[in-house]
Amino acid sequence: MSSTLSASTGSLLDDHDVLLLDLDGVVYVGPDAVPHAVDALRGAVATGLRLGYITNNASRTPGTVAAHLRDLGVPAADEDVVNSAQAAAAHLAGLLDPGAAVLLVGGTGLRVALTEVGLRPTDDRSEAQAVVQGFSPDLGWAQLSEATHAVRSGLPWVATNLDATVPTPGGPAPGNGLLVDLVARAAGRGPDVVCGKPERALFDAAVARLHARSALVVGDRLDTDLQGARTAGLPGLLVLTGVTGTAELLAAAPRERPHFVSHDLRGLADVHPVVEVSRRSDGAGATCRGAQVEIESGAVVVRAGAPGPDGLDVLRAAAAAAWACADDGRGVDLGGAVAALTGHVERPVEHAAVDGVPGHVAPGL
Ligand SMILES: [Mg+2]
Repeated sequence: MSSTLSASTGSLLDDHDVLLLDLDGVVYVGPDAVPHAVDALRGAVATGLRLGYITNNASRTPGTVAAHLRDLGVPAADEDVVNSAQAAAAHLAGLLDPGAAVLLVGGTGLRVALTEVGLRPTDDRSEAQAVVQGFSPDLGWAQLSEATHAVRSGLPWVATNLDATVPTPGGPAPGNGLLVDLVARAAGRGPDVVCGKPERALFDAAVARLHARSALVVGDRLDTDLQGARTAGLPGLLVLTGVTGTAELLAAAPRERPHFVSHDLRGLADVHPVVEVSRRSDGAGATCRGAQVEIESGAVVVRAGAPGPDGLDVLRAAAAAAWACADDGRGVDLGGAVAALTGHVERPVEHAAVDGVPGHVAPGL
């Protein structure tokens, strides 16, 4: 099955009933809204879409996240936020009888999530019927040791997510993935289920809660948001306001490729174009409206550079051609590709005003 860019029938707002939005790098960066996000999301709600916010970060409760969003002017109710602690609790609720005790290896958010689904958090592994592990800055050796003994004894073990790091003001610090790995190494086995992105449990929980019939996933990270979309069988829109730039997009593995690409959330209102790929004996080519890109012996050449209405048609053609080469076992010179695309990947004129806003990464950088 090919994994490449798709064309939309109408605008993405016309084609979908629910947006499942990643937060950091999509809606906000740290405390501040990403440029155009607030207006775009208000516009989506005005046209009848429902918004869900899905995050691996279980350290803040959904209520706290929703309040932050409302402060920014983004429509959000507490129940619109779905985090990996809730997905883990929902999974356990399907596994255990009501009132069952679960060894809690984590913090308040996870404790609240377990209680909300009728399970009983405990620190006593002798009564526990399962183990759940999520990030908490207060987790210590004693809790991790109890978890190790419990999972070695064979209890079901559910992890909220495997993010290796968490962002802190001083830089990345150990995240839940490393703490899970610590228990796994001591116990000699890994968790039975992981609920956060890119696994599908979080998406399934959000789809069920919002009664979505045709949800669209929107994210800035390939290996969590967009891979999660493909895993869950949902289309994914990549926005370039976060961590992904040209080189990362062209190098995307099949399982993590987006269906659509936009500069920012204004791309929700666009009709996304057809990208046609042609394979050759020494490479591949692709066209997107008036843009045409060829890859010959690994080198990217822009044959026609019409940027299209949002300035991304050359990038779309280059990505589709690079993916075709990779799928056929041919390498692509990514450094050369970024250089070849410089000047061909344009931002709409009105984007110029937001250059330099932290976190708003221009394609090609
Ligand atoms: Mg993100």
